[in-house]
Amino acid sequence: QAEALGNGVVTLFTQEMYEQELFNIKLHAHLNDAIHQQEFHLVLQPIIDQSDETHCREGECLLRWHSEALGDIPPARFIPLAEESGLIVPLGKWVIEEACRELAAMIARGAPHDFLLHINVSAIQLLQQDFAWHLMDTVRTSGLTNRNICIEITESVLMQDMKRIGKMLGYLRRHGVSISLDDFGSGFSSLSYLHALPFDSIKIDRNFVMGVIDDEKAQSVINSLIVLASGFNVPLIAEGIEDEAVKLKLKSLGCDKAQGYYFRRPSAFSTFHCEAGAFYYQPTAAREEESV
Ligand code: C2E
Ligand code: MG
Ligand code: MG
Ligand code: MG
Repeated sequence: QAEALGNGVVTLFTQEMYEQELFNIKLHAHLNDAIHQQEFHLVLQPIIDQSDETHCREGECLLRWHSEALGDIPPARFIPLAEESGLIVPLGKWVIEEACRELAAMIARGAPHDFLLHINVSAIQLLQQDFAWHLMDTVRTSGLTNRNICIEITESVLMQDMKRIGKMLGYLRRHGVSISLDDFGSGFSSLSYLHALPFDSIKIDRNFVMGVIDDEKAQSVINSLIVLASGFNVPLIAEGIEDEAVKLKLKSLGCDKAQGYYFRRPSAFSTFHCEAGAFYYQPTAAREEESV
């Protein structure tokens, strides 16, 4: 209910806000135990090369939390909490270790040896002294190479401590790890980032991708991104492709790579199979809702 504080000042502290706040406190408490309780797992979503739509040589891993107490909580809910509390550091390490385990197992089942796995990384993780060491050590002990790994960072990462982050990214890149700029266009998108920092790919935010058919502004943003990316000689990945019309439109505009529910929903690594010597991204019954 609304409460009047006199002088016409009204605070809206509704029952709903109260419940939200209470839920956040609960989330936070459970998040702390979730790693030990083994409540996290990773899913994989393929990234498709528009010039070879049958094979899968690249994908993004995404974190999932099934809380015993609270049910399924999406990353958009718990990642910010984990960042605030610093829990993202041990959680991020777990993600890297689990991602390498899953990828190595998938390669053993027939995925290409040079499969490129994208891992989302927060600024706080990149600012840890031992980030590069931990990543490369995990890669090596998993039987993979640095060339198997792509780090996805968002523009907000770049706003943190540009100099230190830039050094870290340069170091990783010299050792064969690739870097992708995630959600491009959704944040502060400064062109100087693109100039100052080396990227191996840029991911166009879903909001522009969705609008590519009938939103003229989204279209012109995408057009400019395509010109820009080809000027920097960096491949573009379109995120959030949900139907064929959008896929075809982006292909005709010259967008190299694509990711989205249209191709496949994020799903358990174990559901990706090598068949007849080739590694496909679709299960036999294509495009149904995946259980993850
Ligand atoms: P993101 O890195 O931009 O990941 C893409 C998000 O779009 C994922 O949401 C994915 O499930 C969703 N998506 C993919 N295709 C489609 C589509 O066709 N339609 C729609 N509507 N959505 C699609 P998700 O898994 O909920 O993750 C949300 C965000 O949480 C990620 O955005 C990423 O920023 C963060 N995140 C996820 N896993 C991790 C992690 O391991 N570490 C960190 N630091 N952040 C993570
Ligand atoms: Mg991402
Ligand atoms: Mg993204
Ligand atoms: Mg995102």
